[in-house]
Amino acid sequence: MAIRVLKYGGSSLANTDFIKSIAAQIKKDKAAGDEIVLVVSAMGSSTNELIDKAASISRHPDRRELDMLISTGERVSMSLMSMALNDIGVKAISFTGSQAGILTTNSHTGANIIEVKAFRVKEALEQGKVVVLAGFQGVCPETKEITTLGRGGTDTTAVAMADFLNAGTCEMYKDVDGVFNADPKLYDKAKKMNQLSYNQLLSMCEAGAKVVHPKAVKLAKEKGIKLLVKKAHDENSAGSLISANSHASQQAFALNHSPCVYEFQWLNKNSESNDHIHSELQKHLLAWNFPDLQILDIYQDKDQQKFLLRGTDSNLDFFVRALADDSKIKLLRSDLSELSLSFSTPQNLQDTKFVGLYRYRKSALDHYFVIERNYTQNIIDKHLIQYLN
Ligand code: ASP
Ligand code: MG
Repeated sequence: MAIRVLKYGGSSLANTDFIKSIAAQIKKDKAAGDEIVLVVSAMGSSTNELIDKAASISRHPDRRELDMLISTGERVSMSLMSMALNDIGVKAISFTGSQAGILTTNSHTGANIIEVKAFRVKEALEQGKVVVLAGFQGVCPETKEITTLGRGGTDTTAVAMADFLNAGTCEMYKDVDGVFNADPKLYDKAKKMNQLSYNQLLSMCEAGAKVVHPKAVKLAKEKGIKLLVKKAHDENSAGSLISANSHASQQAFALNHSPCVYEFQWLNKNSESNDHIHSELQKHLLAWNFPDLQILDIYQDKDQQKFLLRGTDSNLDFFVRALADDSKIKLLRSDLSELSLSFSTPQNLQDTKFVGLYRYRKSALDHYFVIERNYTQNIIDKHLIQYLN
């Protein structure tokens, strides 16, 4: 009997019909004799809706309370999924991260898993039940508080659980058929990669591809857990396999898109080195609890020192509100987005002129382009597609 850990993302759980359809599939899998753990995200965009509600109540929502709030999204999915299974005669039980023994650091909204003590999960599996586990959350053993793992954290929960149960493989169900060389929602000729290595996937995810959370990929690599990325609600999906022995041989240009980039000015009388600004900024981000915001770039523009932060709209908004009384940082633009090409890049791209290009930068392995938000589609259509064919 194999233990299978299956992760379902928010878009695959967007409504109750989807939940029922997954339950029907699980019934078949269970009949084949597998022991099954389902790790679920919050339905559709409900986490964003919860964050928006918090933002409309408080400019600086207490981070502990924010975790209390946003951890409920997964609780809705897990209980509905377990109900759906029980309703069709499949014995199932749902657990929150805390009930399942997902132990984390105490850093609210950006905690890391330190240990998994999922004895209740094992026990329920031994009793022949399907376990439905809320992703994205855990409990800090010192403070006894509920924590969340940062946006997209359900992937990490799933890999940690696969490791604890020695499942060998973690199956990730998404709304696309696997890992593509560009976001198939942005570019309809994107090609699926049947297999790729951990490092290949990692470099795509770190460049912004929303395939699997980078922390989850790192954990999978460290523990040697294979990842199988497949399409939900599609029995014929072959998916993409990520393992130590897989490698994408095709030239892979990962075209990624992060919709939100804000530009700021670093105000100072004497110019400070980029390294200094970087470490000051890191301190700010940690002190104010914004572990999810990434510093994309720090640069000199005429006599001004500027920097770019990448994140979700709501987190960036919180950051801007938190800035209110900071005299060092000033918001300049909130209407930028980012495109990046990772892995390898044609030489001649350096010479390409982009409409609406705001800023362009090259490093050894990727290129990224920070552009005005509403130009994104144009740029992909007119300029980048040629490199993906
Ligand atoms: N629901 C959480 C989020 O939207 C966690 C996840 O989806 O993995 O970030
Ligand atoms: Mg989600």
